[in-house]
Amino acid sequence: MKIIDLRSDTVTRPSNEMRQAMAAAEVGDDVFGDDPTVKQLEQYVAELFQRPASLYVPSGTMGNQISLKAQTEPGWELLCDRDCHVVNYEVAGPAVHSGLLVNLLTTERGMVTADMVRNNIRPINLHCPLTKIVTLENTHNRHGGTVLPLDEIKRVREVCDEFGLILHLDGARIWNAHVATGISLAELTAPFDSVSVCLSKGLGAPVGSMILGSEEFIEKCRRVRKLFGGGMRQAGIIAAGGLYAVKHNIERLAEDHANARYLAEEMNRMPLFSVDLSRVETNIVLIDIAEPESADSVLARMKEVGVWAVPFGPQRIRMVTHLDVSKADCEEAIGRVRQAFS
Ligand SMILES: *Cc1c(COP(=O)(O)O)cnc(C)c1O
Repeated sequence: MKIIDLRSDTVTRPSNEMRQAMAAAEVGDDVFGDDPTVKQLEQYVAELFQRPASLYVPSGTMGNQISLKAQTEPGWELLCDRDCHVVNYEVAGPAVHSGLLVNLLTTERGMVTADMVRNNIRPINLHCPLTKIVTLENTHNRHGGTVLPLDEIKRVREVCDEFGLILHLDGARIWNAHVATGISLAELTAPFDSVSVCLSKGLGAPVGSMILGSEEFIEKCRRVRKLFGGGMRQAGIIAAGGLYAVKHNIERLAEDHANARYLAEEMNRMPLFSVDLSRVETNIVLIDIAEPESADSVLARMKEVGVWAVPFGPQRIRMVTHLDVSKADCEEAIGRVRQAFS
């Protein structure tokens, strides 16, 4: 039985074409700054986002954590959504690496609004921590792949300017936001001081993320990357997979979005499951499970029929569409689930 793996868009395997590009990559020692393929990737991605500079890093987690560390001092306060990746899935990175105090805000659909930022900036006096940095996540993973509204992001930028706050974007899935809205990557990310984006999610590269920002910021990041043990030597081998991914796999994300919508509608038709269809804007589907079944019991039964997903709470599972699942695979998955729970 073919396994249909909907656990994450990170499970994709490099295609033959991507592997050929990797095998043929020219390499050097990137810690000495002379790996031509890494340089080419950094230049290509910087141009794509219309930023002065970019840096290749081993993971999205490292991209976010380097960005925080390079722009903050211990004891500063970070404002972010309660369900953000930076706080929920990066161990205790902001506290451990950067000594940041985190203020978790409860949001609608992952959007930390301008008013929320304004209302949570602490007064400057002897007693209070300095509120200095905000991070947003677009698309938002735990909120179901929701796209943050650009107008509101611009208003957040205005508040950050007014109060001297830094604005960071966890753009692991910014590609999905771009394809869903038709707004360019450059425009979607222009309000941010720093941006991190993943090559190994929907774009299907085996390894790596990019940080984007000013030349000065990226130079600081290069130093922090070394501190974190993320300086890599003949990294051109993996960077070539990333370069292939950004050149070929962005626009096709529309297929993943259509497949996610299909899964969401079909799952929602089954009495055991319910999906907030208004949240299915990109490639993530959050499915709520009626009691007495639970995420664990449902996932176990799905596993028996070769459909894999992940728990997202006691009564919730997540399915994610990606490069390695076709429309036919999604139809097959729905057929098997329907049968397993009929
Ligand atoms: C996956 C992801 C990351 C980075 O994850 P890595 O596994 O470290 O590459 C960061 N932010 C979000 C929103 C993600 O979904």
